[in-house]
Amino acid sequence: MSSPHILAIPVPAQGHVIPMMALSQCLVNHGFKVTFVNTDFNHNRVANALPDGQSHMTKDRIDLVSIPDGLEPGEDRRDLGLLTEAMRRVMPGKLEELIEKINGGDGEKITCVIADQGIGWALEVAAKMKIKAVAFWTASAAVLALKLNIPKLIDEGIIDNDGTVLKSQAIQLAPNMPAIKTADFVWACIGNETTQKIMFQFMVRSIQAVQVADWILCNSAYGLEPAAFTFAPEIFPIGPLLASSRLENSPGNFWQQDSTCLQWLDQQLPSSVIYVAFGSFTIFNQTQFLELALALELSERPFLWVVRPDITDTTSDPYPDGYQERVASRGRMVGWAPQQRVLAHPSIACFLSHCGWNSTLEGLSNGVPFLCWPYFADQFTNESYICDVWKVGLKFEKNETGIVLKEEIKNKVDQLLGDEIYTARARKLKEVAITNVEEGGQSNKTFKNFIEWMKS
Ligand code: UDP
Repeated sequence: MSSPHILAIPVPAQGHVIPMMALSQCLVNHGFKVTFVNTDFNHNRVANALPDGQSHMTKDRIDLVSIPDGLEPGEDRRDLGLLTEAMRRVMPGKLEELIEKINGGDGEKITCVIADQGIGWALEVAAKMKIKAVAFWTASAAVLALKLNIPKLIDEGIIDNDGTVLKSQAIQLAPNMPAIKTADFVWACIGNETTQKIMFQFMVRSIQAVQVADWILCNSAYGLEPAAFTFAPEIFPIGPLLASSRLENSPGNFWQQDSTCLQWLDQQLPSSVIYVAFGSFTIFNQTQFLELALALELSERPFLWVVRPDITDTTSDPYPDGYQERVASRGRMVGWAPQQRVLAHPSIACFLSHCGWNSTLEGLSNGVPFLCWPYFADQFTNESYICDVWKVGLKFEKNETGIVLKEEIKNKVDQLLGDEIYTARARKLKEVAITNVEEGGQSNKTFKNFIEWMKS
């Protein structure tokens, strides 16, 4: 009998492609074949970001293929409303065609579709084609639990049918879960009003689509979010996947990783370096960028700072005059880092982060304390987990014009690194994360049950 053949399809964003690839690699390790579907646009980015000399796009038993996202080449894919609507219009048909083509060929037929929970239409395509459907959620169980509770939030008059917040309060779905301010609801901080409405309707449809899924898997761990998993037992934790499976140079990065920073880290003292990175989406205005740059200089500590080519809203050189020369002896800036390897490096002292869920998992899986600077979507909830629930990090306060000042940044760095309790708690949390994915751990057991079901 041929082995199960899975079609894996992520939301077309960096923070979704990377964990879906990690899951695919776990499946391949269990003898499955995976066809990994990116959008054409991201497929090209991933191909261009592969290390030099690694020209082919097939790894082990993972076939990397692509379908259009519905937008023209020059259209703005950072406009999430525009992208979401185009995808919804075009991608279900293209996905169906792709599955028909694969199943009409000589190779192994698709036996299961694993789709990001954020694109429920892919689950509907699987159900229509009578193929097993699995939803994979790449953020915290707390945020998915909140989304699954949208009908209740509407019934209770907390939001309206468009997701607009009607009551300003904090919602705690269960004791020990993070209290989420209504203003921080994932759809309420995701762009302008039009985008928010589009995204909210799309989320509502994706939640309905989950009904056809046989499993809802989540890249988190019971030990990290016991209250959320108890509150929403339909969500199954299998993470943190990175701790169990991530291969080096896996094809999934949108930018080429600059690995030279690892040698630079080798030259730094243990637990001395501030690692500063804001994921793939965050944008800084020039004022805030300058303030951060000056704060790192003021800190008088070594730092490794990921400055993506598109991180500021300016096209000119974003640094203060003479900055790069002034900090050259202890500061290193790169366009895109091998983040997991960086966070695992013994010279890292703390992680100044936008609190994307992947970054959060990667930091805590390495026992690193955080300085939190959330930007949008679920990052505010993750900040709350880090600072209020796990207590392994500190938040920044903004001034009256919404800027985090350099003195505030420096003070929080000093406070975090001046009190061993944060690092001590972070190291304990690392054990929790690792224990969950190790043999006998809850995530490990759940994953094995899932594998058995797939083979059945
Ligand atoms: N990442 C990376 N190099 C960088 C910055 C980020 O490899 O310089 C990876 C990081 O390890 C994580 C992902 O990009 O896996 C970002 O996902 P996250 O959920 O943290 O944030 P998002 O990009 O979705 O805002």
